[in-house]
Amino acid sequence: AAAALGRLAVELLGQVRDVVVEHEEELGRLDAIAGDGDHGIGMRRGVDAAVAAARQAAANDGGASVARILTVAGEAWSERAGGTSGALWGSAVIAAGLALGNRDSYSGEDAAAAVTAFTDAITALGKAEPGDKTMVDALLPFRDAFLTAFDAGTPVAASLAAAAASATAAADRTAELRPLKGRARPLAEKSLGHPDPGAVSFALIATRISAHISP
Ligand code: ADP
Ligand code: MG
Ligand code: MG
Repeated sequence: AAAALGRLAVELLGQVRDVVVEHEEELGRLDAIAGDGDHGIGMRRGVDAAVAAARQAAANDGGASVARILTVAGEAWSERAGGTSGALWGSAVIAAGLALGNRDSYSGEDAAAAVTAFTDAITALGKAEPGDKTMVDALLPFRDAFLTAFDAGTPVAASLAAAAASATAAADRTAELRPLKGRARPLAEKSLGHPDPGAVSFALIATRISAHISP
């Protein structure tokens, strides 16, 4: 059962890869407005490496647990992506894996713990505040919407759908912000009117995972 859940984690990482590939050029163009233009290629390199490492771990004799799959995936993501977002995504994927651990089944509480661990890893490492115009501006609304729905008794898949919708709306609203963290800061005025690339990629990924998990 642990190996079957590991295979589900590999499948979800494959979905993340697909949505990044579909939006790679758009993310690069967004990052070029006030950043260095590498957000699409960086996310692509990171997630390609993550999927390859995850598939390799899953192919080992007997397969691998969710924790093992996400740990090797996150390590590969950080290592190969380069850039700020790669380090953040890598550490967040590892943190979610450690929260989920190596079990034969998972509950909604485990999903909530993984969402919290993923979020905490990014805020602990990046230290961005709400309003700094980073992926945190989509991530915190995602976490809050998920926990609000889940704590009210909403099933995980529907809580995730509400969270993804919240992340998408919040990513759109980052267009109104001036970047206060990261490489886009010196060109803050240029960035006005355009959403933050890391917030947009997070919302796209959240939406894809939610769509894939939906019953
Ligand atoms: P780099 O800026 O190193 O070129 P990317 O282009 O891949 O890396 O990622 C840029 C994105 O990283 C930004 O759009 C923003 O969302 C996110 N980011 C930058 N700094 C931080 C931070 N301190 N905390 C959270 N996210 C950040
Ligand atoms: Mg960049
Ligand atoms: Mg860069």
